[in-house]
Amino acid sequence: MTTSANHQERSPHVSVRDLRKQYGGFVALDGVSFDIEQGETFALLGPNGAGKSTTIEVLEGYRDRSGGEASVLGVDPHRGGIAWKARLGIVLQNTGESGDVTVREQLSHFAGYYPNPRNVDEVIVGVGLETKENTLIRKLSGGQRRRVDVALGIIGRPELLFLDEPTTGFDPEARRQFWGLIEGLKTEGTTILLTTHYLDEAAYLSDRAGIIAGGRLIDIGRIDEIGGAEARVPIVRWQDASGVQERRTTTPGAVVAELVAAGGEPRGLEIVRPSLEDVYLELLSANDHSTQELEPSL
Ligand code: ADP
Repeated sequence: MTTSANHQERSPHVSVRDLRKQYGGFVALDGVSFDIEQGETFALLGPNGAGKSTTIEVLEGYRDRSGGEASVLGVDPHRGGIAWKARLGIVLQNTGESGDVTVREQLSHFAGYYPNPRNVDEVIVGVGLETKENTLIRKLSGGQRRRVDVALGIIGRPELLFLDEPTTGFDPEARRQFWGLIEGLKTEGTTILLTTHYLDEAAYLSDRAGIIAGGRLIDIGRIDEIGGAEARVPIVRWQDASGVQERRTTTPGAVVAELVAAGGEPRGLEIVRPSLEDVYLELLSANDHSTQELEPSL
């Protein structure tokens, strides 16, 4: 392998530096920087209005930026042509695929746009639509249509897949199935940029996350490190005669041993490790962007 090929292998699939976007006088992105490495799944998290869709749309080449640098698969998205687009998979929030064609027809049609598409049968099975392949898309349920969206996003065998709230409207079983599908794509080396309001989904699927609020990245890191070590300290909870007791401690086993030694089996004993959701809510309240959700949507 040549040095330049090695270098290419190591270059991130997405690189954003000081990204800025203004809508008229309104600053939607105020200097956002992050990288997504090849094969990585990165979750962009944040409340409504934080700037997630704007970021993604700039990276997909759908929106111009007001400032900063962006590189996607080595190309400035502002200048990405059709060959570059064919290397991306895009699952938007609302694609509104509701046509008078069957699932299979739609997928076969879209497969024709790509140089090296996935096998239509495999994709149909992958998204769990085998019993619906000959059904008209407009006759599918909302969750089933969402699976068609996902199928269309991956049919071209993308190197980089954008998933914007992919499982909204899924029942728990469909969500689990979808997670299995994404794990398969990860194993194949697909780079994924995910947004979701389901923090358990982000924690399950992603390697790293960035938390955005008010157009700024307020934290970024590995899923098990984001928020810092302090935010991850477990809580031992139990009940005694005066009610529920809690202690935050890095040595929960020692606390439990102490409790047992002092009074036998503690009632209602739990050791709770803060989840990504707990850490996320803590970070947002510390940054005081709770008012953002109150903004009128345009
Ligand atoms: P998110 O995806 O995190 O919910 P968005 O990127 O959609 O956030 O929006 C970020 C901010 O930019 C919001 O305050 C939103 O109202 C505003 N915004 C988004 N699109 C436009 C637009 N086309 N014109 C004006 N303001 C917009």
